[in-house]
Amino acid sequence: MSDKSKAEKLKNELFLDKPNQWDLADDNLSKKVYDFSEEYKKALDQGKTERRFIEYSIQRLEKAGFKNAEQIDQATPGTKLYFNMRDKALVAAIVGNDQPAQGINIVASHVDSPRLDLKPNPLFEENELVYFKTHYYGGIKKYHWLSTQLSLHGVIYLSDGTKVDLNIGDDIEDPVFTVTDLLPHLDYHRANKKITEYVEGEKLQVLIGSIPYPDKEISERFKLGVLQLLNEKYGIKEADFNRAEIEVVPAHSARDVGFDRSMIGAYGQDDRVCAYTSLQALIDSEVAKRTSAILFTDKEEIGSEGRAGAQSQAFQYTLNSLHKKILGREPSLSEMQDFYLNTNLLSSDVTNAFDPIYEEVSDKTNSAYLSKGIAMNKYTGSGGKYSTNDADAEFLAYLTNLFDTNNIPYQISELGKVDAGGGGTIAKFFAKTGMNVIDCGVAMFAMHSCFEVTSKMDVYNTYRAYKVFMNKG
Ligand code: MN
Ligand code: MN
Repeated sequence: MSDKSKAEKLKNELFLDKPNQWDLADDNLSKKVYDFSEEYKKALDQGKTERRFIEYSIQRLEKAGFKNAEQIDQATPGTKLYFNMRDKALVAAIVGNDQPAQGINIVASHVDSPRLDLKPNPLFEENELVYFKTHYYGGIKKYHWLSTQLSLHGVIYLSDGTKVDLNIGDDIEDPVFTVTDLLPHLDYHRANKKITEYVEGEKLQVLIGSIPYPDKEISERFKLGVLQLLNEKYGIKEADFNRAEIEVVPAHSARDVGFDRSMIGAYGQDDRVCAYTSLQALIDSEVAKRTSAILFTDKEEIGSEGRAGAQSQAFQYTLNSLHKKILGREPSLSEMQDFYLNTNLLSSDVTNAFDPIYEEVSDKTNSAYLSKGIAMNKYTGSGGKYSTNDADAEFLAYLTNLFDTNNIPYQISELGKVDAGGGGTIAKFFAKTGMNVIDCGVAMFAMHSCFEVTSKMDVYNTYRAYKVFMNKG
């Protein structure tokens, strides 16, 4: 053997190799990858808010034979059930053969995304135009929301208790709404502003109408014109907005990106790409040794606060209730403790894919890359590894071994360079319960923008990874 081939052999043996998965795909696999993304795009279009995604998920689960837990007294191996946590969060499971105290396998993701929320008193008229005032939700770059087509989703309770479900702007026949931007010709005064000050939060006002009520004698007749329309169509009065929860999101639908259609561009893929892939993985799962479960949280984008956020004890109550349904009695304290200590949870969330246009923010050897498989972050957080879970080597060894055995491509990465910024996930909140937790999900471009980009190959491989994880005894 020549020295060169010997060196090559040694290199192949010792070096870490993370091939681009498109290189390894035959026609059969490529077809599966493309086909898989079709229903995923529909899920993104139907599930643009946390409520919509929960609604979509329950439809899918019921079609696949999952029953609302309220209808089930005793769950036995093979029982498929879901807990609807007030339309904003969800736990669904296929009961396995093991005792719950031996632990279960959970894939957990969040179904909220950054957006604009209507203020409690949103409606106002200014210079013969009508607007909704908004308060942004989560980490947005405000300029992304200017001069783009927007739709409205949410619930509004009328004074008699009637629930109105607003859904305007996504259907091609619907009108859309917009936040106007300033023309460049008159934008010189903002030219040297910092990006964080370029658009003030109070300027994120949504244009919703411009025709007045015909009576010229009356004040605020433009606002009256719009309110009359809303009242005729939905029975809404101005005071009803005080009780409402209305979200403003991009109106465009999910699209293929690239001549080769290898990528998906859409709003809200953080984190519905992980929610969707786990949902599909659970639906396609068989009864296993351990119980397989998915869990969706709300409010991750504002720190997992509130009762549907990962910090809420509602998730432990719900998991305890699953435990109880499987046992047919209250679990004892030690059974409950063992349940949490023996449970494995993937905090399934997106991470940054190395973007050659902005390579300065990433450490090339510790970055996730597009189309190289599911991305696992041992830790997230910021600064000196603050505010993170930091999974232990034992759990990483377990998972990488599981993925290697099942031919699942994965990459272990950090979100960006040290001190370049940072971010958190739901991982650390579930780790507090004693579960084994690690972050893993899809790497993407333009996270938190109105048009986030993922690789179809990664979406499919993430689905495969979640399925293997959930079905592992
Ligand atoms: Mn996320
Ligand atoms: Mn996010």
